[in-house]
Amino acid sequence: TVRTRIAPSPTGDPHVGTAYIALFNLCFARQHGGEFILRIEDTDRVRSTDESEQMILDSLRWLGIEWSEGPDVGGPHGPYRQSERGDIYAEHAQRLIDAGHAFKCYRTSEELDELREARKAAGLHLALKPADLALDADEQERREREGMPYVVRMTVPESGTCVVEDMLRGSIEVDWAQVDAQILLKSDGMPTYHLANVVDDHLMGITHVLRGEEWINSAPKHQLLYEYFGWDMPALCHMPLLRNPDKSKLSKRKNPTSINYYRRMGFLPQAVLNYLGRMGWSMPDEREKFSLEEMIANFDIQRVSLGGPVFDLEKLTWLNGVYLREDLDDQAFLKALMDWAFNEGYVNQILPQVRTRVDTLSDVAPLAGHFFSGLPDIDESSFESVKLEREELVRLLQFLVWRLEGVSSWNKEALLAEVKLLCEYFDLKMKAFLAPVFIAVTGSASSTSVMDAMAILGSDMTRARLRYAIN
Ligand code: ATP
Ligand code: GLU
Repeated sequence: TVRTRIAPSPTGDPHVGTAYIALFNLCFARQHGGEFILRIEDTDRVRSTDESEQMILDSLRWLGIEWSEGPDVGGPHGPYRQSERGDIYAEHAQRLIDAGHAFKCYRTSEELDELREARKAAGLHLALKPADLALDADEQERREREGMPYVVRMTVPESGTCVVEDMLRGSIEVDWAQVDAQILLKSDGMPTYHLANVVDDHLMGITHVLRGEEWINSAPKHQLLYEYFGWDMPALCHMPLLRNPDKSKLSKRKNPTSINYYRRMGFLPQAVLNYLGRMGWSMPDEREKFSLEEMIANFDIQRVSLGGPVFDLEKLTWLNGVYLREDLDDQAFLKALMDWAFNEGYVNQILPQVRTRVDTLSDVAPLAGHFFSGLPDIDESSFESVKLEREELVRLLQFLVWRLEGVSSWNKEALLAEVKLLCEYFDLKMKAFLAPVFIAVTGSASSTSVMDAMAILGSDMTRARLRYAIN
């Protein structure tokens, strides 16, 4: 039976690109009466967090994407979190070493730099090959004896052409000369993406891999690993990446990419899912509005077009409006509204911000409106009370946006650290620095604590408001 998977790395906010790839994997599996599973690729122990994993699971579920096996629902091929499968990867790496397909590499990072420099000077491709990396036997033995740190690398051909078949792109040719002796196990014993991905896809019975085109370059290494292990390789399908309207790769620097943003903004999950289904794909009759079940019933991967699909907020907004007006009766509208913002979880986050500052319940809405709205109704004149030149103000907010892009654990402490840093940089007191931030984020000069508001609103909504204030 057909088995597909989504394999997110829990290293940040849940990305719309992850949902898009998950949707196509789900449709492909269901169309063939197969199964769709979820695996967490958290081998990057520094960047992976439990909160990110939880947000990814929550937001995919919110969209209506269901998996039959995964870390939260279990299944016969578990564990479904790579951090819990260390022994399996170590054992498989050893198998490759024993068969001569992988080797322990004791090269230090200084030596690697020198090797690369030498290749560069000689006008050679920068990929390092097993022959470049080899130490003479005595030195190898000495480093081994002294217990120096090592990585395990795979052997790769020196030259020739590798041909990888892609379901949409046909034969893709890559020169082996460009392919590194890829690291499989890092010096801390953790596997890299390549080893873990191949081993797990095999052990979990994955038959078709639909993933973003950014992974095409990895395909030759993966194909070689399947050969080394003597396994059949799943069919590969590299999907076009989502684009900004200017055709560049959809990126959080230009557009909101977090599903949390679309949720907070008040989009309906079925509209977002429908819109993602229109990314590079269309119904046979070209209709724009369709349900997940209709998409599955009509699905054909060959209808995916490789021209980069544009994720256009305006079109999504239009489609969402159609759903709100046409699909929701009063009862459903009420439920959508309650689920969106007037649910206990969200209101409980906001209560501490307002309850000490109100005399009547009717004070709540004016004070907390920014928690229940999208982009605030502000323009240049809204910043009149701020004692900064417009140019300086723009610079300050722009710097804040850039710094906030890099915050991976979005909480008040992390935000405070960034703000303090920028206060020093601009030589401003916290209060002076926060004055324009306050207006940009909450839409008014007097409201609830702006640091708490940013923490509650999330990264993408906060940055969208800051960007809006200076554009
Ligand atoms: P950004 O450019 O916004 O920082 P990123 O590439 O850093 O994005 P990651 O957090 O590395 O984003 O990616 C999270 C997941 O989203 C990955 O699985 C990645 O494949 C997917 N993804 C990122 N950008 C796109 C895109 N433009 N189209 C489809 N999927 C994407
Ligand atoms: N963990 C990878 C990602 O975050 C999975 C890539 C793949 O599907 O092979 O996208």
